[in-house]
Amino acid sequence: MYAEIIVDIAAEQVDRVFTYAVPADMALQPGMRVEVPFGRMTKEGFVIRLKETADYDPAKIKTILSAPEDYPVLLPQLMALAEEIKQRHHCPLCEALRLMLPAEMRGNRVRIKTEEYVRLTLTSDQAEEAIAKETRSKKRKMILTILSDGQLHSMEEMRVLVKDARQALLYLRNREMLEFVTVEKLRSPYAGQIDETLDRTLTTEQEEVLGEMIPALQKNSKPYLLHGVTGSGKTEVYIRLVREAVKMGKGAIILVPEIVLTPQMIQWFKARFGDSMAVLHSRLSAGERFDEWRRIRFGQARIVIGARSAVFAPVENLGVIIVDEEHEQSYLSQSFPQYDAREMAISRCKRERAVCVLASATPSIYSYAMARRGDYILLEMPHRILNRPLPEIELVDMRQELRMGNKSMFSRTLKQKLDACIHSGQQAMLFINRRGYASSVNCRKCGETIRCSRCDVSMTYHSFDKTIRCHYCGAIFPVPKVCPSCESTYIKPMGTGTQKVEEELKKLYPGVGIIRMDMDTTTEKNAHFELVNQFRAGKAQILLGTQMIAKGLDFPQVTLVGAVMADMSLNFPDYRAAERTFQLLVQVAGRAGRGEKPGQVVIQSYQPEHYALQAAVKQDYRLFFAQEFDRRKKALYPPFTLMVRFLCDSKTMEDAWETAEAIKKEIEVRFSDTPLWRRVLYIRADEAPINRIQDRCRAQVLMKLLNHPDTDQMLETFQDMARMDRKAHTVLEINPSSLA
Ligand code: ADP
Ligand code: ZN
Ligand code: ZN
Repeated sequence: MYAEIIVDIAAEQVDRVFTYAVPADMALQPGMRVEVPFGRMTKEGFVIRLKETADYDPAKIKTILSAPEDYPVLLPQLMALAEEIKQRHHCPLCEALRLMLPAEMRGNRVRIKTEEYVRLTLTSDQAEEAIAKETRSKKRKMILTILSDGQLHSMEEMRVLVKDARQALLYLRNREMLEFVTVEKLRSPYAGQIDETLDRTLTTEQEEVLGEMIPALQKNSKPYLLHGVTGSGKTEVYIRLVREAVKMGKGAIILVPEIVLTPQMIQWFKARFGDSMAVLHSRLSAGERFDEWRRIRFGQARIVIGARSAVFAPVENLGVIIVDEEHEQSYLSQSFPQYDAREMAISRCKRERAVCVLASATPSIYSYAMARRGDYILLEMPHRILNRPLPEIELVDMRQELRMGNKSMFSRTLKQKLDACIHSGQQAMLFINRRGYASSVNCRKCGETIRCSRCDVSMTYHSFDKTIRCHYCGAIFPVPKVCPSCESTYIKPMGTGTQKVEEELKKLYPGVGIIRMDMDTTTEKNAHFELVNQFRAGKAQILLGTQMIAKGLDFPQVTLVGAVMADMSLNFPDYRAAERTFQLLVQVAGRAGRGEKPGQVVIQSYQPEHYALQAAVKQDYRLFFAQEFDRRKKALYPPFTLMVRFLCDSKTMEDAWETAEAIKKEIEVRFSDTPLWRRVLYIRADEAPINRIQDRCRAQVLMKLLNHPDTDQMLETFQDMARMDRKAHTVLEINPSSLA
């Protein structure tokens, strides 16, 4: 017997199957991991296929050394998905296969925890007899009695029940009356009980969308796009859909943008599904993650909640994948291969005949366009639960405030509403689209901003230690006394950050509890979770934070939400700036009025006439979509085009530049005389917008291509070009989530 093996080395030359002989006593299956001799080394590999005969001289074929596990770690459907990733992203197959396994598995870095048990080897009649006959030792009699139920009992339990049990247990084992059994102990980070009393009576809207999706569990269906406004009760829909799948003996995967941002979702699911649920995320310890993965693989957990990579969880007989907040950027992988978890979810569901649900209050322009074209089925929940009104939103023009002599960061409207909210004992959330005390340190004379010399981004001022810090590389410096450019002394922090707002609030509302949530206050493992719980428990009246508080949280007591600087994100140099701003504002506004009391929202802006803000105020997704879709069509942005970029980084800018220039040349030589050149709307080689990160200089070739089937050919050539050895390290990005 022979096996075709992919050796776990990510290199172009090794990216093919190698044939090895299977030792006679080895029970091998496709998908299992093996150790094989490779050159002079021992390498790990994956069994792709088994075959009876070898295609060449059997004498030259080496033999597999061992198999670390006795089960396939890769399910066939996931191997097929890996093959698809290889095709799509032109990466070596082993790189795609690695995505399917917990990182800890490679190199056997995790010890499996075991626990010792005992059990009788006697029939119940024999046991009765033995108990009756055992008159000499009370301990042995007791042990036999405890074990007479025929079940496994842990050593731990025996030690508790019978003092100094060890000796007596050994005695009985030597007489072959009982046996010791070693069982793998799986660490489950969340334990809990199932509580179906939490079920609500479904609303008509919830009934309707479920009525559409549940029958799909038993047939092939297109992906669904569930557009449900904030507070429309999407979570309950997920829970019911998953429960139906489980009833049919199927499994489910629920993807969330970032697990630390959605502790509530886990709590809700945990309460309904208990131990049949597994959680996969990066904050688990290596051992916990590995155990969760195995609980899924062995079918002990049929329901998986996790971030992006959980789309590859080894769930067999998959019924449904739900992608919550599908518009989030975190579904795009930042490392290579740069897969899109939504694409993977759709593809996996199609292969495994499972239902795919993409859900959001503010769907991505791409997904909504797909739904309009009929590629996805659009389902809508346009109303909040129990017909609670959507919050009332007021847009404040901050330029007007300044003209009226109000130099504070709070408009008169926001201040007034905050006063009322605090005095009536309710809760408020304030949202700032940045972190740090103030964003940057500027010279008011010459306009110079202090930038990190290594990363070429503005440095951020931190008031508590009067330093400036680079959020890319972590550099820290004292604030300079004079402007490095014009040597004037008019240099001072500008802009608004969470710390500055916190200080201002403390002055305005002495004695009122304030919780600040940003990257700086949530570095500790459970900090995020604890701050959220404190706020929910009413320990503070104001929750102040960054993007972190915009999403997913459900605080019924919050009646006022303020976006202090709503349009900061509008000015990012990215074609999705409007989309991101709209999504963020609708999500932020959605935090208000989720309980019985109605909510109010104040959005402060310096460009209130912008269509993204106008649509956000009306909470009108369709209005926004129509305008944004139109703008992208006119300006030729995705989904009408593809943004393609080669990013070249190197120690010196010269190498980075030279590489980018060379690639541009090669592309022109290769394509400028072909009909494909018509698809290239522009091509440009220059420095990347952030031209240095952590001492690496970055240059780029940026292209806009018309979205057309024949551009695929070009992309393939580009992939090969990116993989060539060059002066600067080069990667190819297609519609990257950031063009920084
Ligand atoms: P979304 O995710 O759509 O923003 P959630 O799923 O967070 O909304 O639900 C909003 C609130 O409504 C939650 O507090 C939830 O417990 C509650 N809820 C959901 N479904 C029902 C229902 N059928 N009856 C009463 N309350 C519900
Ligand atoms: Zn200056
Ligand atoms: Zn830096």
